[in-house]
Amino acid sequence: MSGDHGTDLTRQSAAELADLIATGEVSAREVAQSHLDRISAVDDAVHAFLHVDTDGALADADAVDVARSGGERLGPLAGVPLALKDVLAMRGVPTTCGSRILQGWVPPYDSTTVARLRAAGVVILGKTNMDEFAMGSSTENSAYGPTHNPWDLDRIPGGSGGGSAASLAAYEAPLAIGTDTGGSIRQPASVTGTVGVKPTYGGTSRYGLIALASSLDQAGPCARTVLDAALLHAAIGGHDPRDSTSADHPVPDVVGAARNPDVAGLRIGVVSDLRGEGYQPGVMARVDEAVALLAAAGAEVSEVACPHFRYALPAYYLILPSEASSNLARFDAMRFGLRVGDDGTASAEEVMAATRESGFGPEVKRRIMLGTYALSAGYFDAYYGSAQKVRTLVIADFTAAFEKVDVLVSPSTPTTAFRLGERVDDPLAMYANDLCTIPSNLAGNAAASFPCGLSDDGLPVGFQVMAPPLADDRLYRVGAVLERELRARWGGPILASAPELVTRGSTPAEVAG
Ligand code: GLN
Repeated sequence: MSGDHGTDLTRQSAAELADLIATGEVSAREVAQSHLDRISAVDDAVHAFLHVDTDGALADADAVDVARSGGERLGPLAGVPLALKDVLAMRGVPTTCGSRILQGWVPPYDSTTVARLRAAGVVILGKTNMDEFAMGSSTENSAYGPTHNPWDLDRIPGGSGGGSAASLAAYEAPLAIGTDTGGSIRQPASVTGTVGVKPTYGGTSRYGLIALASSLDQAGPCARTVLDAALLHAAIGGHDPRDSTSADHPVPDVVGAARNPDVAGLRIGVVSDLRGEGYQPGVMARVDEAVALLAAAGAEVSEVACPHFRYALPAYYLILPSEASSNLARFDAMRFGLRVGDDGTASAEEVMAATRESGFGPEVKRRIMLGTYALSAGYFDAYYGSAQKVRTLVIADFTAAFEKVDVLVSPSTPTTAFRLGERVDDPLAMYANDLCTIPSNLAGNAAASFPCGLSDDGLPVGFQVMAPPLADDRLYRVGAVLERELRARWGGPILASAPELVTRGSTPAEVAG
């Protein structure tokens, strides 16, 4: 079946696969197996996965098939395969967070996200690659080597959730889970031509999500279509008593919004502070075209100033390291994973120091030192305290903007995917990637990235939509209209114009044929 895009199961959307499984046209096992085969064929080149759980996935798929043949009514995503970012604990399956310090750790429990996926009958294929402890914008900070962008294997797939986004673009999975602390769902979505949504803070559970910065972290859906992202959002979202910051509020009607594309009368604000110098012209051209398409579909467009957004990036890079330095103190060689230098004579402190020295990579160490410094007596007010004041100003910008408009829009990233290696030695250039995404993490509102075409370099461009807290459904309204209009223009999804990956065991001639 491979090569025939009409019938290849790996080319179907999650919604289509769920229908095929529910009607018995294909079994969940066939669907799982076709994706496992695809992973075997292309993942040597892409390296989206850190661990593939073949037996677990097939067993879960079989359980869905048994339920169906027993006459059980299946949920809207039952039997659909998914790629899980390695930051989420999954019982019995190695979870590394992209770090050597967690090598060999097998969680004894499921994160709430995983528990809800299992309850929905979603088949988890494995764990995806990521920047170590979700610190990064390119997946190059993974202790296990980078992931490659399926659009161009020499380029970054974004980060920190590059593995999840690449698995979608490479047709290894129709659904994935990411986490977004400063953009790690939206930025990889942007550079791989896929959909990524950061729900409102508190909209998805943080229980079992290995913490980077607890006031910013949020798990969310990644997919190739807007409807698929909405179905996944609905499956994982909602109140969790195990997470004290979880919002006790029903999940907004994201699926209804995705199924009924309509922006008539919707007030869209183009953020004037998220454009200009440093933004690639080809990115801005696609973003402006997307705004014009939405206006033609009935949206009311205006420009909105958010003058404090320019301070969001420096504030984030004080708040995040501060929280991270505290959260990462738990990796002490005693409780999880790696232990170095425990020869029977070394003290607990020496073992701890040796383990953290060899278990953490350079970016993690940099942020632990930055955070420890920013929090230290004498510097706390000047750094952490000031950053928190800026955070309040960013929130105030959003509040004022959402009095005038229903959603805000901008590019998701200033540029398209850069080359692997290009920014590894320049942390500030790497951090600049998150210019557009960070404000929504600081403020906790909902935000998404949707594909909006290709830049002049032939690489995908992401369109960011930001909505007020708990109005996540508006993201999907806008995304679904954009998807419909762009499909009409392109004659299909933008991702279909990505180059074919050369699969293992096939010659280039066979692939071309
Ligand atoms: N790139 C940002 C960082 O390095 C975002 C990370 C994230 O969202 N997990 O902190």
